[in-house]
Amino acid sequence: MPSVSLRKRTVFFYIFFSYTVKKERKDPDAYFESAVQEAEIYMEKKKLWLALTVTVTVLLSAVSVGKEKWKQAVARTEKQRTEEKMQTTADDTPPLAALTFDDGPSAVYTPKLLDGLKERGVKASFFLLGRNIPGNEEIVKRMQKEGHLIGNHTYNHVQLNTLSETRAREEILKTNNAIYEAAGIYPQYMRPPFGAWKKNMELCVEMIPVFWNIDTMDWKTQDVSSVLEIVFTEIKDGAIILMHDEYEESVAAALAVADRLLEDGYQLVTVDRLIVP
Ligand SMILES: [Zn+2]
Repeated sequence: MPSVSLRKRTVFFYIFFSYTVKKERKDPDAYFESAVQEAEIYMEKKKLWLALTVTVTVLLSAVSVGKEKWKQAVARTEKQRTEEKMQTTADDTPPLAALTFDDGPSAVYTPKLLDGLKERGVKASFFLLGRNIPGNEEIVKRMQKEGHLIGNHTYNHVQLNTLSETRAREEILKTNNAIYEAAGIYPQYMRPPFGAWKKNMELCVEMIPVFWNIDTMDWKTQDVSSVLEIVFTEIKDGAIILMHDEYEESVAAALAVADRLLEDGYQLVTVDRLIVP
Protein backbone atom coordinates (compact mmCIF):
# COMPACT_ATOMS: atom_id res chain seq x y z
CA MET A 1 0.00 0.00 0.00
CA PRO A 2 1.35 3.48 -0.78
CA SER A 3 2.29 5.58 2.23
CA VAL A 4 0.43 8.79 3.08
CA SER A 5 3.32 10.94 1.89
CA LEU A 6 3.34 9.14 -1.44
CA ARG A 7 -0.37 9.78 -1.83
CA LYS A 8 0.08 13.45 -0.95
CA ARG A 9 2.92 13.72 -3.41
CA THR A 10 0.90 12.10 -6.16
CA VAL A 11 -2.01 14.49 -5.60
CA PHE A 12 0.30 17.47 -5.51
CA PHE A 13 2.05 16.56 -8.76
CA TYR A 14 -1.18 15.80 -10.48
CA ILE A 15 -2.63 19.16 -9.51
CA PHE A 16 0.55 20.95 -10.42
CA PHE A 17 0.70 19.24 -13.79
CA SER A 18 -2.93 19.98 -14.58
CA TYR A 19 -2.50 23.56 -13.48
CA THR A 20 0.48 24.14 -15.74
CA VAL A 21 -0.94 22.43 -18.81
CA LYS A 22 -4.37 23.94 -18.54
CA LYS A 23 -3.29 27.60 -18.12
CA GLU A 24 -6.17 28.78 -20.30
CA ARG A 25 -8.57 28.15 -17.42
CA LYS A 26 -9.78 31.46 -16.21
CA ASP A 27 -11.09 30.63 -12.81
CA PRO A 28 -8.19 29.23 -10.80
CA ASP A 29 -10.32 28.50 -7.74
CA ALA A 30 -12.88 26.52 -9.71
CA TYR A 31 -10.05 24.88 -11.58
CA PHE A 32 -8.27 24.01 -8.35
CA GLU A 33 -11.43 22.41 -7.06
CA SER A 34 -11.95 20.42 -10.24
CA ALA A 35 -8.28 19.46 -10.21
CA VAL A 36 -8.66 18.19 -6.65
CA GLN A 37 -11.72 16.19 -7.78
CA GLU A 38 -9.80 14.80 -10.71
CA ALA A 39 -6.94 13.96 -8.42
CA GLU A 40 -9.33 12.18 -6.10
CA ILE A 41 -10.86 10.22 -9.01
CA TYR A 42 -7.33 9.36 -10.10
CA MET A 43 -6.53 8.17 -6.61
CA GLU A 44 -9.73 6.13 -6.50
CA LYS A 45 -8.77 4.50 -9.80
CA LYS A 46 -5.29 3.88 -8.47
CA LYS A 47 -6.80 2.33 -5.34
CA LEU A 48 -8.97 0.13 -7.56
CA TRP A 49 -5.94 -0.96 -9.57
CA LEU A 50 -4.04 -1.58 -6.40
CA ALA A 51 -6.92 -3.64 -5.01
CA LEU A 52 -7.12 -5.54 -8.29
CA THR A 53 -3.37 -6.16 -8.30
CA VAL A 54 -3.46 -7.36 -4.69
CA THR A 55 -6.41 -9.65 -5.47
CA VAL A 56 -4.68 -11.12 -8.53
CA THR A 57 -1.45 -11.57 -6.57
CA VAL A 58 -3.31 -13.28 -3.70
CA LEU A 59 -5.17 -15.50 -6.17
CA LEU A 60 -1.95 -16.42 -7.97
CA SER A 61 -0.25 -17.21 -4.64
CA ALA A 62 -3.27 -19.29 -3.64
CA VAL A 63 -3.06 -21.20 -6.91
CA SER A 64 0.67 -21.70 -6.46
CA VAL A 65 0.23 -22.80 -2.80
CA GLY A 66 -2.59 -25.08 -3.93
CA LYS A 67 -0.34 -26.51 -6.62
CA GLU A 68 2.40 -27.08 -4.02
CA LYS A 69 -0.06 -28.75 -1.66
CA TRP A 70 -1.36 -30.88 -4.48
CA LYS A 71 2.20 -31.87 -5.35
CA GLN A 72 2.82 -32.72 -1.67
CA ALA A 73 -0.40 -34.77 -1.58
CA VAL A 74 0.65 -36.66 -4.70
CA ALA A 75 4.12 -37.25 -3.21
CA ARG A 76 2.51 -38.47 0.02
CA THR A 77 0.25 -40.84 -1.90
CA GLU A 78 3.31 -42.15 -3.78
CA LYS A 79 5.09 -42.62 -0.44
CA GLN A 80 2.07 -44.41 1.04
CA ARG A 81 1.88 -46.64 -2.03
CA THR A 82 5.58 -47.52 -1.71
CA GLU A 83 5.08 -48.27 1.99
CA GLU A 84 2.01 -50.38 1.24
CA LYS A 85 3.99 -52.20 -1.44
CA MET A 86 6.77 -52.88 1.06
CA GLN A 87 4.15 -54.07 3.53
CA THR A 88 2.74 -56.42 0.88
CA THR A 89 6.25 -57.68 0.18
CA ALA A 90 6.67 -58.36 3.91
CA ASP A 91 3.33 -60.18 3.85
CA ASP A 92 4.64 -62.25 0.98
CA THR A 93 6.81 -64.29 3.37
CA PRO A 94 5.92 -67.95 2.90
CA PRO A 95 3.27 -69.53 5.13
CA LEU A 96 4.71 -71.72 7.87
CA ALA A 97 3.77 -75.18 9.04
CA ALA A 98 5.31 -77.62 11.50
CA LEU A 99 5.32 -81.41 11.20
CA THR A 100 5.30 -82.88 14.70
CA PHE A 101 5.69 -86.54 15.67
CA ASP A 102 4.70 -88.06 19.00
CA ASP A 103 5.38 -91.36 20.77
CA GLY A 104 8.81 -92.09 19.24
CA PRO A 105 11.53 -92.86 18.81
CA SER A 106 10.79 -96.03 16.91
CA ALA A 107 13.77 -98.19 15.95
CA VAL A 108 12.02 -99.16 12.69
CA TYR A 109 10.11 -96.10 11.48
CA THR A 110 11.92 -93.07 12.91
CA PRO A 111 15.14 -93.65 10.88
CA LYS A 112 13.04 -93.98 7.68
CA LEU A 113 11.29 -90.73 8.49
CA LEU A 114 14.61 -89.02 9.26
CA ASP A 115 15.98 -90.20 5.89
CA GLY A 116 12.96 -88.79 4.04
CA LEU A 117 13.12 -85.46 5.90
CA LYS A 118 16.85 -85.18 5.21
CA GLU A 119 16.29 -85.78 1.47
CA ARG A 120 13.83 -82.89 1.43
CA GLY A 121 15.82 -80.61 3.74
CA VAL A 122 12.84 -80.50 6.12
CA LYS A 123 13.14 -79.95 9.88
CA ALA A 124 10.48 -81.46 12.12
CA SER A 125 9.69 -81.73 15.84
CA PHE A 126 9.77 -84.99 17.78
CA PHE A 127 8.08 -85.39 21.15
CA LEU A 128 9.68 -88.46 22.64
CA LEU A 129 8.45 -90.96 25.17
CA GLY A 130 11.17 -91.50 27.77
CA ARG A 131 10.51 -95.24 27.85
CA ASN A 132 11.30 -95.49 24.10
CA ILE A 133 14.73 -93.90 24.41
CA PRO A 134 16.82 -96.76 25.92
CA GLY A 135 18.32 -98.64 22.96
CA ASN A 136 17.43 -95.78 20.54
CA GLU A 137 19.92 -93.21 21.77
CA GLU A 138 21.62 -93.00 18.35
CA ILE A 139 18.31 -92.01 16.76
CA VAL A 140 17.83 -89.23 19.34
CA LYS A 141 21.38 -88.05 18.72
CA ARG A 142 20.70 -88.05 14.97
CA MET A 143 17.55 -85.94 15.44
CA GLN A 144 19.62 -83.36 17.28
CA LYS A 145 22.46 -83.46 14.74
CA GLU A 146 20.09 -83.03 11.79
CA GLY A 147 18.45 -79.93 13.23
CA HIS A 148 15.11 -81.30 14.42
CA LEU A 149 13.49 -80.12 17.62
CA ILE A 150 13.38 -82.69 20.40
CA GLY A 151 10.61 -82.37 22.94
CA ASN A 152 9.22 -84.32 25.86
CA HIS A 153 6.06 -86.49 25.74
CA THR A 154 6.39 -87.90 29.32
CA TYR A 155 8.06 -91.17 30.19
CA ASN A 156 5.07 -93.53 30.15
CA HIS A 157 2.53 -91.64 28.04
CA VAL A 158 0.60 -90.53 31.10
CA GLN A 159 -2.29 -88.12 31.39
CA LEU A 160 -0.62 -85.44 33.49
CA ASN A 161 -3.72 -83.77 34.89
CA THR A 162 -4.76 -87.01 36.60
CA LEU A 163 -1.46 -87.32 38.47
CA SER A 164 -0.13 -85.73 41.64
CA GLU A 165 2.31 -82.91 41.05
CA THR A 166 5.20 -85.08 42.21
CA ARG A 167 4.32 -87.93 39.81
CA ALA A 168 3.76 -85.51 36.94
CA ARG A 169 7.13 -83.84 37.61
CA GLU A 170 8.81 -87.23 37.72
CA GLU A 171 7.35 -88.23 34.33
CA ILE A 172 8.65 -85.04 32.77
CA LEU A 173 12.06 -84.83 34.44
CA LYS A 174 12.90 -88.49 33.88
CA THR A 175 12.27 -88.04 30.16
CA ASN A 176 14.29 -84.80 30.05
CA ASN A 177 17.19 -86.66 31.65
CA ALA A 178 16.95 -89.53 29.14
CA ILE A 179 17.02 -87.03 26.27
CA TYR A 180 19.97 -85.24 27.84
CA GLU A 181 21.86 -88.52 28.24
CA ALA A 182 21.26 -89.37 24.57
CA ALA A 183 21.64 -86.02 22.79
CA GLY A 184 23.24 -83.67 25.33
CA ILE A 185 20.34 -81.19 25.38
CA TYR A 186 17.54 -80.43 27.82
CA PRO A 187 14.25 -80.03 26.00
CA GLN A 188 12.31 -76.82 26.52
CA TYR A 189 9.08 -77.94 24.89
CA MET A 190 6.74 -80.72 25.77
CA ARG A 191 3.59 -82.17 24.32
CA PRO A 192 1.29 -83.46 27.05
CA PRO A 193 -0.23 -86.83 26.05
CA PHE A 194 -3.95 -86.45 25.18
CA GLY A 195 -3.36 -82.70 25.16
CA ALA A 196 -3.95 -82.80 28.92
CA TRP A 197 -1.69 -80.22 30.54
CA LYS A 198 -1.70 -79.92 34.29
CA LYS A 199 -2.67 -76.40 35.34
CA ASN A 200 0.36 -74.22 36.15
CA MET A 201 2.67 -77.18 35.53
CA GLU A 202 4.91 -74.98 33.36
CA LEU A 203 5.75 -73.00 36.49
CA CYS A 204 7.26 -75.96 38.32
CA VAL A 205 8.95 -77.78 35.41
CA GLU A 206 9.81 -74.72 33.28
CA MET A 207 8.61 -76.31 30.06
CA ILE A 208 6.46 -74.88 27.33
CA PRO A 209 3.46 -77.06 26.43
CA VAL A 210 2.89 -77.49 22.69
CA PHE A 211 -0.50 -78.54 21.34
CA TRP A 212 -1.60 -78.87 17.68
CA ASN A 213 -4.21 -77.50 15.34
CA ILE A 214 -4.37 -80.33 12.80
CA ASP A 215 -4.93 -83.84 14.15
CA THR A 216 -4.26 -86.28 11.29
CA MET A 217 -5.62 -89.27 13.29
CA ASP A 218 -2.84 -91.28 11.60
CA TRP A 219 -2.56 -93.69 14.53
CA LYS A 220 -6.24 -94.55 14.14
CA THR A 221 -6.73 -94.73 10.36
CA GLN A 222 -3.21 -95.75 9.35
CA ASP A 223 -4.20 -94.58 5.92
CA VAL A 224 -2.10 -92.23 3.78
CA SER A 225 -4.96 -90.74 1.73
CA SER A 226 -7.03 -90.08 4.84
CA VAL A 227 -4.12 -88.21 6.45
CA LEU A 228 -3.60 -86.16 3.28
CA GLU A 229 -7.28 -85.31 3.08
CA ILE A 230 -7.38 -84.10 6.69
CA VAL A 231 -4.18 -82.05 6.35
CA PHE A 232 -5.12 -80.37 3.08
CA THR A 233 -8.64 -79.60 4.22
CA GLU A 234 -7.41 -77.90 7.38
CA ILE A 235 -4.06 -76.47 6.33
CA LYS A 236 -3.34 -72.81 7.11
CA ASP A 237 -0.40 -70.58 7.91
CA GLY A 238 0.94 -71.54 11.37
CA ALA A 239 -0.42 -75.10 11.22
CA ILE A 240 0.97 -77.55 13.78
CA ILE A 241 0.35 -80.99 12.33
CA LEU A 242 0.14 -83.93 14.73
CA MET A 243 1.45 -87.34 13.56
CA HIS A 244 3.11 -90.40 15.07
CA ASP A 245 6.36 -91.92 13.82
CA GLU A 246 5.42 -95.47 14.72
CA TYR A 247 3.58 -96.64 11.62
CA GLU A 248 4.70 -97.28 8.05
CA GLU A 249 1.71 -95.29 6.73
CA SER A 250 2.51 -92.37 9.01
CA VAL A 251 6.00 -92.08 7.55
CA ALA A 252 4.67 -92.29 3.97
CA ALA A 253 1.90 -89.79 4.75
CA ALA A 254 4.29 -87.38 6.49
CA LEU A 255 6.64 -87.33 3.50
CA ALA A 256 3.74 -86.88 1.06
CA VAL A 257 2.44 -84.01 3.22
CA ALA A 258 5.93 -82.46 3.24
CA ASP A 259 6.20 -82.70 -0.56
CA ARG A 260 2.85 -81.10 -1.18
CA LEU A 261 3.31 -78.35 1.41
CA LEU A 262 6.68 -77.47 -0.14
CA GLU A 263 5.06 -77.45 -3.58
CA ASP A 264 2.35 -75.12 -2.24
CA GLY A 265 5.02 -72.69 -1.04
CA TYR A 266 4.96 -73.57 2.65
CA GLN A 267 8.09 -73.36 4.75
CA LEU A 268 8.33 -76.30 7.11
CA VAL A 269 9.75 -75.22 10.45
CA THR A 270 10.34 -76.64 13.90
CA VAL A 271 7.47 -75.94 16.25
CA ASP A 272 9.35 -73.37 18.38
CA ARG A 273 9.00 -70.99 15.41
CA LEU A 274 5.21 -71.11 15.79
CA ILE A 275 4.97 -70.88 19.56
CA VAL A 276 4.96 -67.60 21.42
CA PRO A 277 5.76 -68.58 25.00
ZN1 LIG B 1 1.15 -89.63 22.42
